[in-house]
Amino acid sequence: MGQYANRRAFSQEAQRPSPMSDQPIYGFDTLQVHAGGRPDPATGARQTPIYQSTAFVFRDAEHAASLFNLQEVGYIYSRLTNPTIAVLQERIAALEGGAGAVCCASGHGAQIMSLFPLMGPGRNIVASSRLYGGTVTQFSRTIHRFGWAAKFVDTENLDSVAAAVDSDTRAIFCESIANPGGYISDLEALSRIAESHGIPLIVDNTSASPYLCRPIDFGATLVVHSTTKYLTGNGTVTGGAIVDSGTFDWSASDRFPSLSEPEPAYHGLKFHETFGALAFTFHGIAVGLRDLGMTMNPQGAHYTLLGIETLSLRMRKHVDNAVTIANWLENDSRVRSVSYAGLKSSPYYARIKKICPRGAGAIFTFAIEGGYEACVKFVDSLELFSHVANLGDARSLVIHSASTTHRQLTAEQQIAAGAAPDVVRLSIGIEDPDDLISDIDQALAKATI
Ligand SMILES: *Cc1c(COP(=O)(O)O)cnc(C)c1O
Repeated sequence: MGQYANRRAFSQEAQRPSPMSDQPIYGFDTLQVHAGGRPDPATGARQTPIYQSTAFVFRDAEHAASLFNLQEVGYIYSRLTNPTIAVLQERIAALEGGAGAVCCASGHGAQIMSLFPLMGPGRNIVASSRLYGGTVTQFSRTIHRFGWAAKFVDTENLDSVAAAVDSDTRAIFCESIANPGGYISDLEALSRIAESHGIPLIVDNTSASPYLCRPIDFGATLVVHSTTKYLTGNGTVTGGAIVDSGTFDWSASDRFPSLSEPEPAYHGLKFHETFGALAFTFHGIAVGLRDLGMTMNPQGAHYTLLGIETLSLRMRKHVDNAVTIANWLENDSRVRSVSYAGLKSSPYYARIKKICPRGAGAIFTFAIEGGYEACVKFVDSLELFSHVANLGDARSLVIHSASTTHRQLTAEQQIAAGAAPDVVRLSIGIEDPDDLISDIDQALAKATI
């Protein structure tokens, strides 16, 4: 196992000793600029180059054989590994406090990739009913085609979470800050339930970003991201990541054979036994990306690396703006209610102080007097906010979830997800808050006459 115990595997640092590898004491702002990256060994290029190459030359036939046998770590073919993407993987793992990470083509890809090693026909997950609309659709419909199922539960009711876990359950899945309803999952309580049943807790940390929340610190086994959102932060590329804490014992039961049992495609290698804390990461690359093929491209990884360099700076401004605007809305008579955990009126205000001490994020919903019609008119009247199905951009965004992202859901699911017909979702950007408030003010005036 020795040569694999290096958490820099699959990164450029596998080739060169790293000054960072023995100094995990750097702060977040330093890691977001440096983790995983170094001057290019071939040219000295200071910014991480875009290694726009499908394949990488083998030194000789023996080198090729050992790479294919997973006996040596290196680059073969960009469906599996690529040096630009390797830097991003290491950077995200460092920011989340994980042992390793795998990047892929989108957040939804990351969700499938996170479940793939754990699941099989007849297996299920217990999922929070408060999830991103697309995730509800993926879990309630599409995964059935693989013979997988999701049992949706209100994670506020911990007894019902525990009761939903059965002998076929392979994970509990929730979001840290749930999109869009301003709900904060009690990560510690959920991880205790997962642990007592010998299954991993998977947390979608997209809406928080690792700057605001580090789910692994609260017991999560795996963290998934849509890097499309805050991590990239500029609305340019889709991407996803799965971070593994490296702490789960996949061999403690017979429930995770993909990780604990011999893998025929690699001469009977057992991932957990061979790779230890990096078992899930290696499996994600060597089996997940190899066979599912939902690979990130190096150009996309480059945009995300550029974005991550300023993550903490952006998140601080996102949160400041969101608090200012949510407070303004809460005091406006045209507004029925505001669901933002950063407001003292939120039932989750105490929980956010613990789980996301740096702030409750910048996505929240509010209900407008006048219901569905007023919401549609409000969205159409905004000038600075863009009406798009996206969030976590530097630009302020708006969407009426009930008529768009949550349209496929039943009315009951819409309400459970915090996307009731009279509710509009804002993703607050990093512009001047006064300009954003003026825009909201004029649009509310038009929507509520
Ligand atoms: C956007 C999003 C996803 C899906 O990510 P894509 O990159 O669009 O595939 C999943 N979860 C959350 C919370 C999201 O915001």
